[in-house]
Amino acid sequence: MSHDILVKRQVGHRARLVLSPAHVSTLDGQAHAARALWNMLHEWWTMVGENRRVDLRDADAAIRRARKDMDFLAVLPAQAAQAVLKTYFRAWRNCWAGRADEPTFKSRIRSVMSVDVPQGQHLNIVRVHRRWGMANLPKIGRVRFRWTKDLPVGKRANAENRITGARLIKDALGWHIAFRVQTLEAEPEAHTGPEVGVDVGVTVPLALSDGNHQGHGRPARTEDGTADRDKWLNAKEKTKLLRLERRAAQRKQHRKPGERTSHRLHRTYDQIRGLRARSTRRHQDWQHKTTTALAQQYGTVVVEALTITNMTRSAKGTVEEPGANVAQKSGLNRAIAQEAWGRTVTMLAYKLAWRGGTLVRVPAPGTSQRCSECGFTTPGNREDQATFVCKKEGCGFEANADDNAALNILHLYRIGHVVEVPAAGRAVVRRARRVKPTTER
Ligand SMILES: [Zn+2]
Repeated sequence: MSHDILVKRQVGHRARLVLSPAHVSTLDGQAHAARALWNMLHEWWTMVGENRRVDLRDADAAIRRARKDMDFLAVLPAQAAQAVLKTYFRAWRNCWAGRADEPTFKSRIRSVMSVDVPQGQHLNIVRVHRRWGMANLPKIGRVRFRWTKDLPVGKRANAENRITGARLIKDALGWHIAFRVQTLEAEPEAHTGPEVGVDVGVTVPLALSDGNHQGHGRPARTEDGTADRDKWLNAKEKTKLLRLERRAAQRKQHRKPGERTSHRLHRTYDQIRGLRARSTRRHQDWQHKTTTALAQQYGTVVVEALTITNMTRSAKGTVEEPGANVAQKSGLNRAIAQEAWGRTVTMLAYKLAWRGGTLVRVPAPGTSQRCSECGFTTPGNREDQATFVCKKEGCGFEANADDNAALNILHLYRIGHVVEVPAAGRAVVRRARRVKPTTER
């Protein structure tokens, strides 16, 4: 083989767990404890964080004490408690670096139930059948999971190829295990496919500069022009969702102050969550198929450098200076968030990297107002959401607004206006195979 460069890759793999009702309630308890711990940490941080530099060890000691003093925290395995601490501080680092909003309290209803198993070797994974694997969960024991992908375990595992940890996640379908898999593979040859500009379209989900648009046949907007957050559900499911949401609102309204949420209301919430989860699965399935197809066909994919957090923030504005056109902008934000553009870009980045391709980001401003034919830029060029007509005398270029924007995105890359070339994952370039590589982390 001609490749002598190996690349370290981190990928995730999600599998469904088979649990007894007793195991489910144990895991539920762990997840509630993890959330409670997060909230305690947040309260503590809000209290002390402003005034003095907090040492991570202080928090660590506080957790140890809390686990001893509070029964409900003791159900959480020590490693999982440490992971909550790490995740919490990582959330702040992401916030300080401008990558995310400030961490907040996690509500019982809205937050995802999850428990970390940070150490891969504790899982002790074994394949027991063509379709089943077994793993160790702390304070639970051996459990079965669906074996749908060859994982580097047993003889196939080594320092480079192994499972480094996992997170247990509960969704509407029950508890899952999401493995973190580390592999070391030969770097792929450079992708020789063409370049393409991709825009989040108004009329199509992904507009491509060569006209090869990627749609999913579901209109992004309802008839009154607002973003349709439930477009992945069919008409029957939408009607059901609406009915459930009305019912939940009514029950909530008739609840007396201080009264506990009824079982019936909890059940309605569960049904709503189930429908939303179905919608998300369909969307992600489409994203995976689409990004795989793009990464196979194109060597270079150019996208706008949009940061969704910033856009949401700018729409809301601050208390002193409320954002202009709040309704309009937040509608757009919702639509973008809905399309989960960030997730699409992440998928594109790693799928391209696997095939030797590249994802490039270019600065966003003006791509919707610039004429891709003559370069003339004015807000008036964009006649409405879907139509672009150049206002420069003698040009008059007419196009679908999405086509035009995608062409501009590609143009920006070609003239060298590149924001960054993000590395997908943690690519560690190493020596040739025959030389025994030293592990660096
Ligand atoms: Zn023009």
